[in-house]
Amino acid sequence: MICVTIARETNNELRRSWESAAEAGAKLVEIRLDYLAEPVDWTLLLRDKPTPVLVTVRRTIDGGRWSGREQERRSLIVEACRNGADWIDIEMDIAQELPRTGISRRVISFHDMLSTPADLDAITDACRAGDADLIKMAVMSHSLNDALSLLDAVARSHSISPTMGLSMGDWGQFTRVANARFGQSWTYASFDASASPAPGMITFADLKTIYGYDRISGTTKLFAVIGDPVSHSKSPLIHNLAFQHHQLDMVYVPLRISPADLDGFIRRMTDWGFAGLSVTIPHKEAVIPLLDQVDALVSLTGSCNTVIARPNGELRGYNTDLGAALDSLSEAVGGDGTQTLTGKQVLLIGAGGVARSLAFGLNQAGAKVVITNRTHQRALELATEVGAEVADWADRNRVAGESAIIVNATSVGMVPKIDDSPLDSSSIHANQVVFDTIYTPEWTRLLLDARLAGAVTLSGIDMFIRQACAQSQMFTDGLEPPLESMAKALRLTLKPA
Ligand code: NAP
Repeated sequence: MICVTIARETNNELRRSWESAAEAGAKLVEIRLDYLAEPVDWTLLLRDKPTPVLVTVRRTIDGGRWSGREQERRSLIVEACRNGADWIDIEMDIAQELPRTGISRRVISFHDMLSTPADLDAITDACRAGDADLIKMAVMSHSLNDALSLLDAVARSHSISPTMGLSMGDWGQFTRVANARFGQSWTYASFDASASPAPGMITFADLKTIYGYDRISGTTKLFAVIGDPVSHSKSPLIHNLAFQHHQLDMVYVPLRISPADLDGFIRRMTDWGFAGLSVTIPHKEAVIPLLDQVDALVSLTGSCNTVIARPNGELRGYNTDLGAALDSLSEAVGGDGTQTLTGKQVLLIGAGGVARSLAFGLNQAGAKVVITNRTHQRALELATEVGAEVADWADRNRVAGESAIIVNATSVGMVPKIDDSPLDSSSIHANQVVFDTIYTPEWTRLLLDARLAGAVTLSGIDMFIRQACAQSQMFTDGLEPPLESMAKALRLTLKPA
């Protein structure tokens, strides 16, 4: 179940937002009285409740806004019980001083806004001793390990009595979705993104539509995009769309992992119920030695963007980036890719991870690859490894003018610097194919210039969707993903506001 948290400054606004949440399908609402800038109007708030309600009056040390006296706060909690609150939230350290009153069920909570404490078992025991119907721990995470240690402690406590754990911040955001996989009673959601009362809280709409939270259960297979950072990733949007299209018992979450935690996570990923991963920066190379097997493209490029856990627990790595980029290019060039790329001069701008995969792939497809990069040494090393040519950065415009295909595999032109381009517009002409791997924005300066010059243009969206579709097929045992809807959903989210 999703518990929608509503925090407003007036009773009227609180009640109106609660009614809107109920209309939108909320089955439980938490009203945060600590945000009210006026006395509580119990009649207005709790008469003919739009949904069952959890009443919370959070202290500032626990991440709330209560600025009055503590005695007044405790009186409000007692009054909430007397006025028919279905649930009340009481902090662990005062729970024994506030005995059960009326029919309200008790969430006994513990908050740490700074860190994930080491003694989580002692904390759940203390919550239980406070006469808890539900134990809640909300703690700040600074690593994936923090978030996983919270889930471990919650699982131990949950085997004794109902317990939930939410790991706040970027590192633990996935727990707000994945907690349902571990049998926890509910997750908290904000009603609108601009009024989120806790770090990392996801909106009600996203939990329902992107993650299908209400369908997640103990049998749901988990998938994730792992990277650092990862909050910008559009992969959860499009992969969940494919899962929901096929009505699969699967959910896909963003998982921020630092390089230091990668090894530990990969070794335990199946214990946590993860059946597959998309891998992004900076883990595409580092993940390879942690896997049992990799496919030929991973061996060729030294880059892995997909991990699949086989039923026997074996982990296999794949590269769907390269096939996607080459397919996109082949289609833009026209006809059969391998043949049409053969003999064509490609100016490859960049020498990072994407450029590396493309250099190997284009070379194998028979293209004449010329690499240029801001840091010349990297271009030189990649060109030597691949057997490609290298062009000076200062000479890139001239070489671009001579090339049949231009590929930008740098971040030049990406948001926020959308007016930048790696090339002068005068070096692009009709009859060329210009491929920009960037997909934020879709129409980069480079592509706009190319379109104006009459060249064939190709954006990173096409590549992104293709690589995701190839991954989705692996995740779903070969089911055809809804390519059109995935591309449409992606484009909608990338549209400037
Ligand atoms: P990366 O490994 O970090 O490489 C970045 C590249 O950009 C390097 O060659 C770097 O040059 C160059 N660069 C960065 N800032 C520059 C500047 N101000 N001027 C000139 N060159 C600059 O990143 P990556 O993973 O290869 O990603 C590269 C691009 O591919 C990104 O724009 C990303 O959005 C895109 N991408 C697209 C997809 C997709 O599916 N469409 C997937 C992944 C990535 P130096 O060597 O000099 O630092």
